[in-house]
Amino acid sequence: MHTSEYSDVPSSLSALSLEGQFSFHNMSHASKDFGNQFQLQPSAVLQPKSVSDISTTIKHVYQMGPRSPLTVAARGHGHSLQGQAQAPDGIIIQMESFKGPGIHVHYTGNLPYVDVAGGELWINLLKESLKYGLAPKSWTDYLHLTVGGTLSNAGISGQAFRHGPQISNVYQLEIVTGKGEVMICSPAENADLFYAVLGGLGQFGIITRARIALQPATKMVKWVRVLYSNFTTFTQDQEMLIAAEKTFDYIEGFVIINRTGILNNWRSSFSPQDPVQASHFTSDGKTLFCLEMTKNFNPDETEIMNKEIYMLLSKLRYIPSTLFQSEVTYLEFLDRVHVSELKLRAKGLWEIPHPWLNLLIPRSKIHDFAERVFSDILRDSNNGPILLYPLNKSKWDNRTSVVIPDEEVFYLVALLSSAPPSPNHDDTTLEHALKLNGDILDFCEQADIGMKQYLPYYTTEEGWRAHFGSKWKVFTQRKLDYDPLAILAPGQRIFHKAT
Ligand code: FAD
Repeated sequence: MHTSEYSDVPSSLSALSLEGQFSFHNMSHASKDFGNQFQLQPSAVLQPKSVSDISTTIKHVYQMGPRSPLTVAARGHGHSLQGQAQAPDGIIIQMESFKGPGIHVHYTGNLPYVDVAGGELWINLLKESLKYGLAPKSWTDYLHLTVGGTLSNAGISGQAFRHGPQISNVYQLEIVTGKGEVMICSPAENADLFYAVLGGLGQFGIITRARIALQPATKMVKWVRVLYSNFTTFTQDQEMLIAAEKTFDYIEGFVIINRTGILNNWRSSFSPQDPVQASHFTSDGKTLFCLEMTKNFNPDETEIMNKEIYMLLSKLRYIPSTLFQSEVTYLEFLDRVHVSELKLRAKGLWEIPHPWLNLLIPRSKIHDFAERVFSDILRDSNNGPILLYPLNKSKWDNRTSVVIPDEEVFYLVALLSSAPPSPNHDDTTLEHALKLNGDILDFCEQADIGMKQYLPYYTTEEGWRAHFGSKWKVFTQRKLDYDPLAILAPGQRIFHKAT
């Protein structure tokens, strides 16, 4: 083929026999993401209606050979941060258009599961499985993300200490590889592809269907928050809770820097245990640490649930006046971030740049990290939540592609900053946030923290090699096996199509 033949992308794609369709105009939505920092235009957007549409398209690009510049990115809900679901001049596959055979809950037997299309949102999966009194075991904090999008990373929230990340709760996948082949994989069948794709950053295939483990769901959730002023006590209590056999169902935490009236803000959704003491609490501008926990229960179990919570709380060393509690439905709790989304959208503060930084820090270094980052680098900043909670390596499967620190307990530290327009309408708030992120990353390197990025972002091969460490060899071999022309997910910037 001549180069000119590659340039007429619309006519070559329009000639494919598909159930869905391509569009070649008005594609700006496919070049945007939640991070709002990168906008790379594709050449075409596919709205697939079948697995065969996806396979035919990838096969077509594969058969064009290494000299064609065309690449392909699956786009879930586009909630990436740095253009990971974009494909400059390539093809975007709009996964939400492909609903497959729907959401199928298999509720009989000891191991209930749900079969779901890769482009389905977790919130829809939850609502459907709740009709059968069931729900997935492991979550993300926000549910308006696709199954394929979170399984390409890991999927972490406050249940991961018990169930592992979402990628530890998958029974089977249907994948379209970078050669356009459709393959079923599981721990028993095409296991290498199965583990490659989980946490694989979209590099080895497109997840068209996933089989996700379910468990019985309760109707209600007791939601508890308490504050600490001492970081050591806070993390010791978190670690004690995740190690205990009888414990909460969800355990997270966050860091509060430069905030006033924090307890007043909670009052709209939580009740203080002791309103008088709570009204006397002042933070004096100190950095505080909030431990957040939940216990699932059904209305007829309220008494026993309250007793269990009382027992657990009696072992913790939080500031007594800061105990706040609330009871919400299971669905309301899991979909809690959507409430904040709606409020931020109403203020025009959702579609702004989000220079987020998500780090996994080994337990042995979390104090050094906190000392430098919270007391020094971020001392004067206040531009978004900072989550901090422990996870345990034994719940993660080393055969998957995701990379975590080499210690049994490690912390997720999610610095979720946003950069609203500055009063001068320039980029100074974004630049400032990126500078702070750079300072944190530099510190981690200089202090040899042993940190791994979650939702990793590197621009050089050297960066990726260091990220994957001993897993780099396997990762590159898997790329050769399943996507030898480096067609898939170019927005991750790990491999580049040789043209
Ligand atoms: P996209 O951004 O569309 O895609 C992400 C990557 O996966 C891209 O490389 C894309 O090509 C690839 N991809 C997408 N679909 C498929 C598929 N079907 N098959 C193969 N590859 C595919 N993460 C957590 O773990 N825990 C959290 O609590 C959490 N909270 C979040 C809250 C918010 C508000 C946001 C914006 C993100 C949060 N995340 C969290 C991060 C989130 O899990 C990732 O950004 C995820 O990739 C987003 O899913 P998506 O469907 O938008 O994926």
